Amino acid sequence: MERVILRNVDREDSHRIDVYLKHGGYQAFRKVLKEFSPQDVIEEIKRSGLRGRGGAGFPTGLKWEFAAADFKEPKYFVCNADEGEPCTFKDRMIIEKDPHALIEGMLIGAYATGCSVGYIYLRGEYPIGKRILLQAIEEARERGFLGENILGSDFSFDIHIHSGAGAYICGEETALIESLEGKRGEPRIKPPFPVNAGFMWKPTVVNNVETLANVPVIIERGAEWYSSIGSPDCPGPKLYSVSGKVKKPGVYELPMGTPLEEIIFEHAGGIKEDRKLKAVFPGGASSCVLTADEIHVKMDFPSLAKAGTMLGSGAVMVLDETDCIVKAALRLLKFFRHESCGKCAPCREGTDWIVRILYRIENGKGSEDDLETIVTISETMENSFCGLGMAAHNPAVSTVKKFRDEYLKHIALKRCPFKE
Ligand code: NAD
Ligand code: SF4
Repeated sequence: MERVILRNVDREDSHRIDVYLKHGGYQAFRKVLKEFSPQDVIEEIKRSGLRGRGGAGFPTGLKWEFAAADFKEPKYFVCNADEGEPCTFKDRMIIEKDPHALIEGMLIGAYATGCSVGYIYLRGEYPIGKRILLQAIEEARERGFLGENILGSDFSFDIHIHSGAGAYICGEETALIESLEGKRGEPRIKPPFPVNAGFMWKPTVVNNVETLANVPVIIERGAEWYSSIGSPDCPGPKLYSVSGKVKKPGVYELPMGTPLEEIIFEHAGGIKEDRKLKAVFPGGASSCVLTADEIHVKMDFPSLAKAGTMLGSGAVMVLDETDCIVKAALRLLKFFRHESCGKCAPCREGTDWIVRILYRIENGKGSEDDLETIVTISETMENSFCGLGMAAHNPAVSTVKKFRDEYLKHIALKRCPFKE
């Protein structure tokens, strides 16, 4: 497939504005300023079918329409670059290799929604990305793409970078906004959604890096062309971060809806040392596990939801026959226990209890009742305040359901069968 999102990344100095301009960069933004009303841009993005690539898949055009319809001022345009989901490293590639595509996407989005101030909330662990983005913003200012009365128009917009400090929860958009306001990063109740009451309680669009990198090319080549890629009900290209026991881990740009089997065995080269595939977490740490028999599934939002899991950020984590499923679930739950912000009890207590139980089972001290207790705790966690707690139990409860025999083996042997 022709590369769309990653079309620029292999060029030498792809992060510099001269290289970007030489290959058609900022033409989409120029076209928008000249030929499109804000409403035209929104219609084009709606017709393209672009859905948010951060994990939830909300229609981007609709989000922009909601923000445009709110006339409170000022309005803010925020790029969520706090890529914290374990095994997700796709946005990093855009930030480091094609930062001007991100800036151009933000410019077009800000024009469409009437935003005058932009922020990139950048993962604290991306210092190289920060240096590159700062340079790219400065280059864009020097060439007149950012600032007052851009390219002689009456549109003004500038972008500032805000570095995160290592908290996973700050990738949740309302916690991100709290953090941007200088407060402790804890989620707010939704609704109201940020499009109406976000940063400083003003209308705020929050879009993921990959989502925004799609925008210039949609304007350049049109919604019809864009929507011909991928699944009809979920179009466009998608970046999949593939890691774990595959021969060629990495970021793969493929049409949305590419079968998981093709991603693992064709693009990522199959399982290391030709061992047997055991399990896959198809959409990051909070997705439900799939067994080796379930990998024919299409990797898009509706197909994975139908399969009882989710696409999330598109982080494909592959386990082979030598991996212990209990240990894998324990690792993931330990991550969520550490990253739970502690605001609500179901998540704060639930993650801790599940970690204790998984630890017990992995170390030969579990009982069959523990498996039912994990299910009961996870039901309570569904009532958590935000998405982190609502989904954190997924790796535990889905592995208990699909790999029950392996859990029972740990309990019967009173040790992990993978440790001799
Ligand atoms: P969500 O469904 O609450 O919201 C998705 C987006 O749509 C938000 O921007 C929200 O404001 C907007 N929205 C939803 N309904 C709306 C409405 N009625 N009006 C206006 N706007 C509306 O999901 P979420 O909690 O923001 O995100 C969850 C996803 O994030 C999960 O799928 C998870 O995989 C993903 N995630 C990604 C990373 C990463 O590093 N990329 C990290 C953690 C989680
Ligand atoms: Fe914090 Fe977890 Fe509750 Fe979200 S679900 S508010 S992360 S404690």
